[in-house]
Amino acid sequence: MKSVFAVMTALARRTGALNLGQGFPDSDGPDFLLDAARRAIGEGLNQYPPVNGLPRLRQAISEQREAEYGLRYDPDSEIVVTMGATEAVAAALPALCDTGDEVIVFEPYYDAYGAAISLAGGVRRTVLLQRDGDRFVFDPDELRGAVTSRTRVILLNSPHNPTGKVFGLRELEQIAEVCREHDLIAVTDEVYEYLTYDGVRHITLASLPGMRERTLAISSAGKTFNVTGWKVGWACGPARLVDALVSVKQYLTFAGGGPFQAAVAEGLRNPRPWVDTLRDDLQGRRDTLLTGLAAAGIRTWTPEGTYFLQADAASFGHHDGEELCHVLAERAGVVLLPSTAFYDDEEAGRPLLRLAFCKRRQTLDTAVERLTAFALARPQETQA
Ligand code: PMP
Ligand code: GLN
Repeated sequence: MKSVFAVMTALARRTGALNLGQGFPDSDGPDFLLDAARRAIGEGLNQYPPVNGLPRLRQAISEQREAEYGLRYDPDSEIVVTMGATEAVAAALPALCDTGDEVIVFEPYYDAYGAAISLAGGVRRTVLLQRDGDRFVFDPDELRGAVTSRTRVILLNSPHNPTGKVFGLRELEQIAEVCREHDLIAVTDEVYEYLTYDGVRHITLASLPGMRERTLAISSAGKTFNVTGWKVGWACGPARLVDALVSVKQYLTFAGGGPFQAAVAEGLRNPRPWVDTLRDDLQGRRDTLLTGLAAAGIRTWTPEGTYFLQADAASFGHHDGEELCHVLAERAGVVLLPSTAFYDDEEAGRPLLRLAFCKRRQTLDTAVERLTAFALARPQETQA
């Protein structure tokens, strides 16, 4: 079975449609970062890096976590560099779970989580993010009710793909309370940590009382620096959790991407000028989409973070987002992603579509024109 990202990108290639499905930017990262990678290759950094990553990158991650969140991690024992956030998640779950242990995730959830939990022999328990006006919210009682004697981990993604939700302090306190009360480990996927809008700030769960010692915080350079293909990620946490992750990781990939690790170390030392500009630009692109789609009568949910937003298939006269995505590719020339890919309960995700706005403005403008024409043509078709 292929992932929804591969399927929808192949559909975009076959039909020649604009690809607002798979979430990768269509412009490069900063020149200084690309130059740093070239330089590192030239300087001969081309053999295996250490299993836990280049020391200079671990040092830079440690400084970044302290500068952004006031949390100190020892670069030698509390940080590991991974092949993207994906490997960090894929190694963390088998490292932390025994067969039959339960992992709580908020639904919808990023597709790789389901596979990682299965690889671990774990059991997935979902807590639904329900639509509530313009927001996606969870019921704290449902979260508490999801905990059993077998629960081991809460896997939290904030800023959240695909909804664009950024979990607020109150919500994080509720999650932290459950973790402390039931002695659970939190694995937090924070790959969109810098991509938050309208003044909303990402709060890392590890910064809440009693959480640093029970949280593995995962991030990656892909989204922060527009280099999704580099696959440089990392996890920070207490040494016992990092050690456990490394014990699995050493047999997955061991290590890789030495020159990219060296470049990311440079990027992380001073990420703000670049990411602040990227974030402001993405906010503008988000608003272009939101305004354009609203003018065409298409219902959307405003994301506070990430580079994704959800739209309602019903605005196009369809109730099945999956079916609609194929129709839109063939007839409107735009590929979106059916949100069902992120749900166990397919009915909950059926009406939703995910649009990626990390694409060039020209692409987004054309996509809005095409989606508008398609949405507006619908009533006439029905009448005909
Ligand atoms: N987590 C989330 C929530 C994502 O959206 C993505 C997609 N990039 C990843 C992890 C994967 O990150 P990486 O490319 O660093 O493996
Ligand atoms: N994370 C990206 C997304 O959500 C793509 C990941 C992938 O292609 N596997 O679209």
